[in-house]
Amino acid sequence: MLQKPDYDYIILGGGCAGLSLIMHMLTSSHLSNKRILLIEKEVKDKNDRTWCFWEKGNGFFESIVHRKWNHAWFHADGYSSLKTLGPYAYKMIRGLDFYQHCYAVMRESGRVDLLHESVKKVNNANGLVVVTTQNKVIQGKYAFNSIMAEQTAYKKDDLVLLQHFKGWIIETPSAFFDTENATLMDFRVNQDEGTTFIYVMPLSPTQALVEYTLFTSSLLSDEHYEWALKNYIAEYLKLNEYSIKEKEFGIIPMTNHQFSVGEGAVINIGTAGGQTKPSSGYTFRFIQKHVHAIVGLLDEGKHPLVKKSLFEKRFMWFDSVLLYILYHKKMPGARVFSLMFSKNKISRIFKFLDNETALHEELVLLNTLPQWPFMMAGFKVMMK
Ligand SMILES: Cc1cc2nc3c(=O)[nH]c(=O)nc-3n(C[C@H](O)[C@H](O)[C@H](O)COP(=O)(O)OP(=O)(O)OC[C@H]3O[C@@H](n4cnc5c(N)ncnc54)[C@H](O)[C@@H]3O)c2cc1C
Repeated sequence: MLQKPDYDYIILGGGCAGLSLIMHMLTSSHLSNKRILLIEKEVKDKNDRTWCFWEKGNGFFESIVHRKWNHAWFHADGYSSLKTLGPYAYKMIRGLDFYQHCYAVMRESGRVDLLHESVKKVNNANGLVVVTTQNKVIQGKYAFNSIMAEQTAYKKDDLVLLQHFKGWIIETPSAFFDTENATLMDFRVNQDEGTTFIYVMPLSPTQALVEYTLFTSSLLSDEHYEWALKNYIAEYLKLNEYSIKEKEFGIIPMTNHQFSVGEGAVINIGTAGGQTKPSSGYTFRFIQKHVHAIVGLLDEGKHPLVKKSLFEKRFMWFDSVLLYILYHKKMPGARVFSLMFSKNKISRIFKFLDNETALHEELVLLNTLPQWPFMMAGFKVMMK
């Protein structure tokens, strides 16, 4: 006789992907009778990250967007341009606002049980999934897993760069920042370590997030990040009087490693499910599109594994080519991005980085980049 599972859906990890999936599940009328369990080891009561992303119109999490910008600067040596981002806006969501919003919606729905424990094991067994925590063994019809393996089992030919960044929210004694215009990438900083840029998000006339970001193989000392931020603020913002209100540090793996999409009744989501864009590190929007597609399949009573067509997989090749160029230093990242931003409309770049362009748009964009290094990289990647 078939056993009845304790829950229909067990969500492993209540960070960006787990909570986004639950929010989408709660809006689906088809899933209103489903029993959902969230297992999260932490109390999400800190602003542990800030998500920035571009989006057209109002998004699913519009009510908690902290700031958004319609214009942004791009700077490199010899090239500076203020871009109009339309039809996109560049948006920022604070981690803490996101957690509080999702937990409030879950509480109000009364449809999600929450278990604050650490997941120890997840197994497929007899068509169900069995999740073991330190105190419980729970069965579900499906588990959606956003918990990263302790160590990623990289393969010999995988390209792995780290996107590492340190950000300060700084405050000035009087109005200083232009809140209309963000700075998406400023490459005028020293490039000795590899692809390096600064990102400035004005939050109010007296506050801004200034972030020092690198795409390199290894991390730097904390003093280095702090020194670079201090230097940039003095040299380029020409700001001497300010205080640091908050600090953020993060590492996002940029890799063409094929993360497992899951197996049987276990579906991987979030970074653990390969939703981080290898060549940019952007993840938030990819998570949203992925969980939306999962809920679409569940609505139709289908297995929730989202399959990509062979044609869609071309973006993985583009990512690998760009990673190859950056990893093997075939061209400085500053030059690649400067050419891309100076010769293309921002809407085409955003669409491309969202994996949403059509082939003819990709050809136009790729044509603005030096052909020889990209052709060589494309060939090398194909041969692997
Ligand atoms: C500081 C920082 C800033 C970022 N900024 C951006 C950005 O601006 N734009 C963007 O697109 N992407 C950004 N990213 C990348 C990406 O969007 C985030 O990492 C995002 O949080 C990934 O979502 P996730 O659900 O996969 O992982 P997480 O949000 O990390 O969620 C995983 C959850 O699993 C829980 N967990 C882990 N182990 C266990 C266990 N054994 N048992 C139970 N629970 C467990 C964790 O506590 C966590 O809550 C950023 C990443 C970082 C680190």
